[in-house]
Amino acid sequence: MIGFVGLGNMGGPMAGRLVAAGHELCVFDVVPALRERFAGSAALAATVTGVSTADTVLLMLPDSAVVERVLLGDGLLDRLRPGTLLVDMSSSDPSRTKELAVTAAKRGVTMVDAPVSGGVAGARAGTLTIMVGGPAEAFERLRPLFDVLGGRVVHAGEPVGAGHAIKALNNLMSAAHLMVTSEALLAGQAFGLDPRVMLDIVNASSGRSGSTETKWPKFVLPGTYDSGFGVRLMVKDMGIALGLQEATGTPSEVSAAALASWAAAAEALAPDADHTEVAAWLMSRRQP
Ligand code: NAD
Repeated sequence: MIGFVGLGNMGGPMAGRLVAAGHELCVFDVVPALRERFAGSAALAATVTGVSTADTVLLMLPDSAVVERVLLGDGLLDRLRPGTLLVDMSSSDPSRTKELAVTAAKRGVTMVDAPVSGGVAGARAGTLTIMVGGPAEAFERLRPLFDVLGGRVVHAGEPVGAGHAIKALNNLMSAAHLMVTSEALLAGQAFGLDPRVMLDIVNASSGRSGSTETKWPKFVLPGTYDSGFGVRLMVKDMGIALGLQEATGTPSEVSAAALASWAAAAEALAPDADHTEVAAWLMSRRQP
């Protein structure tokens, strides 16, 4: 039995794929409507500790604070049986994950971090990139589950937190790309160029990235801004990455400037705004 906690934009479709692949699930989310979607296809836990009889528990929650609340505050960790594999697939803070793993190990529970990239579309299609931190033996035991969810499953390293570290660093890069891509394309547009023509050129040149290949064509230009990844979650990930840079004493001038821009955008946008709305926020700041 697999316990699955957090049935939001990502967790919902991921749990759905596991059910469709024939796995027996017990699911929980604080939002009752999200767990009701699994009525008839999975066991519905009334509280988070209801998933504790599972031998593998997957978490897909917003951040480390919520992961800690669920495991320590709500008492899930205390209720897990020795030998349980506890997998945090959220984009959490690697230093906090390490601490949780030590607490979990004292109870005989092995904690693994396995954050993902690939967005809501990747979660639905089972093509996520999954980056796993933790013992090789646990990675091998979990691999069949990960293969249902991901197209590319990588063991990032033995230390717990390795996956969470590279996930935050990846999102720092992705966020900086989107901000600078948006600034550049808006300047080109103001100069009279067509954004689609610019994207054609850049995508055959060295400035290309996920922002030019996917985010601008799919979410910004059509004005849908519906990638399913919130601006606040991106700022959270950038903060984790900057914390890692600080802790390791590595340079972070450009990263800090990117975070300052993103934090200003998040402040100005609605709390539930999509992260691609930073492009619209930049447009609104054009000098008359
Ligand atoms: P989301 O906000 O849609 O989902 C989080 C879910 O957790 C919500 O359904 C919420 O009700 C639930 N939750 C909150 N507190 C809870 C608690 N105490 N107990 C049980 N459930 C609780 O977020 P998401 O977009 O699904 O992202 C989840 C994680 O995955 C985040 O760490 C995010 O950074 C990461 N991520 C998101 C994307 C994306 O494209 N959305 C892509 C890659 C990684």
